[in-house]
Amino acid sequence: MKTALLPVALVWLIAASAHAQHDHKNDHGHQHAHVHGVAKLEVAVDGGNLSLRLESPLEGLLGFEHAPRNDQERAAEAEMRRKLADAGKLFAPTTAAQCSLKSARIDAPTLDAKPAAAAKQTNAHADLDADFLFACAQPARLTGIDVRLFQAFPNLRRVEAEVVSEKGQKAVRLSSKMRFLSW
Ligand SMILES: [Zn+2]
Repeated sequence: MKTALLPVALVWLIAASAHAQHDHKNDHGHQHAHVHGVAKLEVAVDGGNLSLRLESPLEGLLGFEHAPRNDQERAAEAEMRRKLADAGKLFAPTTAAQCSLKSARIDAPTLDAKPAAAAKQTNAHADLDADFLFACAQPARLTGIDVRLFQAFPNLRRVEAEVVSEKGQKAVRLSSKMRFLSW
């Protein structure tokens, strides 16, 4: 089972890192919309592999959009990273599908800026991208995800979700009152 999963996971990782590099170029130019409180979630269902990509303004996850400048901001960043790494609590796929989190990767170059560069990050906006991979033992039973981002990150008001599965493509607007993404 594990050897069968490996090549797929590798291909996914390569695709994800290519995507991430592309996005780096946009971090300052922002060709995509950056609306505070609004995140984007791309979901791909491929057999037993469930991959999620979250793109959010840092404001929605952290409350600020620059490298941390004091202990309070450093603590906020650590807390955000902890929540994102524990993505099984942020995204709950159909229980019967028996999905488990395999990897969580966070990409937020702004937060890693050196102090000199961080001091110049005054009026800039910045995003965080995160990739999550779940493996599902019963993929035929996988019909949706309960998206619990809104409890974890109260600054988030809306998630524009897109799902690609063998059933086709679907776009859904999620909020704390409409947080179930089904396909
Ligand atoms: Zn912003």
